[in-house]
Amino acid sequence: MNSDVARQVSTLRETVASLHGELTRYGLVAWTAGNVSARVPGQDLMVIKPSGVDYDALTADTMVVCDLNGAVLDGNGSPSSDTAAHAYVYRAMPEVGGVVHTHSSYATAWAARGEAIPCWLTAQADEFGGEIPVGPFALIGGDDIGKGIVSTLSGHRSPAVLMRNHGVFTIGRDARAAVKAAVMCEDVARTAHLARALGQPLSIAQADINSLYDRYQNVYGQRSTIG
Ligand SMILES: [Zn+2]
Repeated sequence: MNSDVARQVSTLRETVASLHGELTRYGLVAWTAGNVSARVPGQDLMVIKPSGVDYDALTADTMVVCDLNGAVLDGNGSPSSDTAAHAYVYRAMPEVGGVVHTHSSYATAWAARGEAIPCWLTAQADEFGGEIPVGPFALIGGDDIGKGIVSTLSGHRSPAVLMRNHGVFTIGRDARAAVKAAVMCEDVARTAHLARALGQPLSIAQADINSLYDRYQNVYGQRSTIG
């Protein structure tokens, strides 16, 4: 690892460790479940949470550096048990720089029913561009979860997939974007649940969904970087 890569890894160790604090802040995880990873830009490397460590004990030093086959290159602990899924996504989707996994309650309740979340909210149109889709049932361990994520999200606007009977995986251009998608996915899942519990939510016309998505992904983002 040359010094430039070592510096990038060191920065990403800090970033990934601190982003785990967002998962607890927004109530997306219980005990040691859930994980965040980041691709090291331009390298076949990722930084990911260690397995089975309390959220309070997660620091830059406890993060684990793996190659994109999940082999540990630097770190004291073993990497997250979801490392194979993260690695598969990075190998298959070069544009993805961050991956997040949670079992956040409302989104996972939709996953338990194998039900995609219909686009009933403008905030969902903004962030997800339509429904939040369901991925296949898959057992942990091999590439099945990774394959399910990639096959569901490839060509889909949504950065979030509800893996059936399991939970949420999100992707982003970096780890922070993937964390934001995980937070927004749970927010939308909760409101959609409440809305349907009391009646039949109203759908949004596809043309309006397209317009909202386009504005948020383009115009809104540019304005927000200016001011
Ligand atoms: Zn899980």
